[in-house]
Amino acid sequence: LVQAISQLQVGAAAVARIHQVDTLPIESFELRKETRSRPAQPGPAGIRFDKVWFGYQDTTAAVHRNLSFQIPAGSTAAFVGPSGAGKSTVFALLERFYEPDAGTITIGGRDIKEWKLRRLRSMISYVEQDAPVLSGSLLDNLLLADAQASSTQIDDAVSRARLSALVDRLPDGLDTLVGHRGTRLSGGERQRVAIARAFLRRPRILLMDEATANLDAINERFLIEALDDLRDSTTVLTIAHRLSTVVAADQIIVMNNGTVDAAGSHTDLLSASDLYRTLAQTQLLTTDEPVKEIA
Ligand code: ATP
Repeated sequence: LVQAISQLQVGAAAVARIHQVDTLPIESFELRKETRSRPAQPGPAGIRFDKVWFGYQDTTAAVHRNLSFQIPAGSTAAFVGPSGAGKSTVFALLERFYEPDAGTITIGGRDIKEWKLRRLRSMISYVEQDAPVLSGSLLDNLLLADAQASSTQIDDAVSRARLSALVDRLPDGLDTLVGHRGTRLSGGERQRVAIARAFLRRPRILLMDEATANLDAINERFLIEALDDLRDSTTVLTIAHRLSTVVAADQIIVMNNGTVDAAGSHTDLLSASDLYRTLAQTQLLTTDEPVKEIA
């Protein structure tokens, strides 16, 4: 009985937290989490930036200068570039935390200014660098994405996010307490919990800021496979810090100084872009293997 009561308390706390998140006003930049409602219209959405100019303030230099690129629906794009190139700002503009000074951004062929803000954001999930896990059970953490999810949907999301082995290993499976005062999950596991939430929500667009901290090779492979599984429902944009994710992307967009320096596949870019070659050899390479052999 004591155990049942304590479980009920944990469940009630989780429901309260979900309610808290749901009743927040249109979220702030700091709370752009995967806890938004499901997109009303399913299916991946294509994205286009057309001659976009943007500066954070009128007085400062433009961050985006005539930025143009196109990402087909259901494809994966990896953004790479030096620090300050404007990669995160692409994500902030897509979610309309700021408006471009000039140019157009379209999602699904429609100017994002024409989408209702809530509708626009319900299409997009954002998985941040250090994906948070709330205290409560692993199940509570998944239900944040969709409080109505059935156990079949949960099982499916767990398996697609390559979390089944973790669930099997945890003492109480999905009911194991995680996060604060619970079992500590690794960075890779937390990121896959966030991906599992994306499977439950099926956003039309997933924005992912990859962790800069090195994941081990197994976690890295899991993550790439999981992202690949999302293709039928979701267009995936990654700010990539690891060569393996970059190589797996359909398109690599190399940004420099607020504009596109080059775009294409890893192999194309190795010969076409000096900047990409330098980035691949310095920023992105986390193993001892030479760049060409990974291609
Ligand atoms: P990093 O790889 O270091 O994360 P990035 O390519 O993602 O860099 P952004 O974060 O988009 O680059 O930043 C581009 C420029 O805009 C930088 O000079 C940064 O200092 C500036 N910037 C970013 N966010 C803001 C903000 N909220 N207000 C003012 N300036 C900002």
